[in-house]
Amino acid sequence: MSDINLFTAAKAKKSLGQHFLHDERVVQRIVDLLRVEEGDQVMEIGPGPGALTKLLRPLPWSRLLLLEKDDHYASEHAARPLPGLEVVPGDALAFPWEELEGPWKIAGNLPYNVASPMMWDIVCRVPGLARAAFMIQKEVGDRLLAKPGGKDYGALTVWIQSFVAVQKGFVIGPSAFSPPPKVDSAVVVFTPLPAEKRPNHPERLSRLIKICFQQRRKQLQTILRHAEPQRFSPEILAALGIEGTQRPETLTVMQFQQLADALFSEK
Ligand code: SAM
Repeated sequence: MSDINLFTAAKAKKSLGQHFLHDERVVQRIVDLLRVEEGDQVMEIGPGPGALTKLLRPLPWSRLLLLEKDDHYASEHAARPLPGLEVVPGDALAFPWEELEGPWKIAGNLPYNVASPMMWDIVCRVPGLARAAFMIQKEVGDRLLAKPGGKDYGALTVWIQSFVAVQKGFVIGPSAFSPPPKVDSAVVVFTPLPAEKRPNHPERLSRLIKICFQQRRKQLQTILRHAEPQRFSPEILAALGIEGTQRPETLTVMQFQQLADALFSEK
């Protein structure tokens, strides 16, 4: 392991998705994409042996929060205190995101096995998300960036694009990591959408897209008639300019939001 880390890496734990970056140019590009400015509150998810942390530490943030599930790395970071730096040992999947006050910029070379549920939570539950830059599996990045109609367009696409604009950062191969993962990786950048473009009732949208994309090859009218017999009527689709014969993957993000509100509004 090279010295781009803050401290020496231990043997990588597969169960924690540990693939450590060892190319400083790649790490620098991720940090640059986060655009840390004077006084920002910054969080890093999964700092591990600290390749990103090492470049984040000298930046002019007011708070730097490191969230790490591996106790070994959490205590290594805690042993290197800095004013404004906090280490939170724990699972990002159980983190109380709603409690982050003020604007936050969040970065991470995410553990690929749980990156999707982490991002699902972050976009809808961090009240002041200002920007995020995440390294993820390239295939997941393709899903986040997908447009209606293609095979990559699914529940994760609709959910994430309902809250944030997704930009492609860059793509890199397995050799940038140690141990190398089996897949290519991509960095994506999130910037929040204005409140009027976000779903008013996220729980309705979540319910609808989960139903729809479990059976994506079926027609919308067939899916909804079976899943929501009390609520579905052809008029609901017609009022939104949607054909009952359309497949879920052909609806835009906005159409999903409108359909969720129309179907699940209290009568
Ligand atoms: N940031 C380091 C780097 O880029 O080399 C490590 C990235 S490694 C892909 C993912 C990191 O996330 C590991 O440090 C791992 O221990 C941590 N991690 C795994 N699951 C986690 C979880 N549920 N919550 C918080 N951290 C987690």
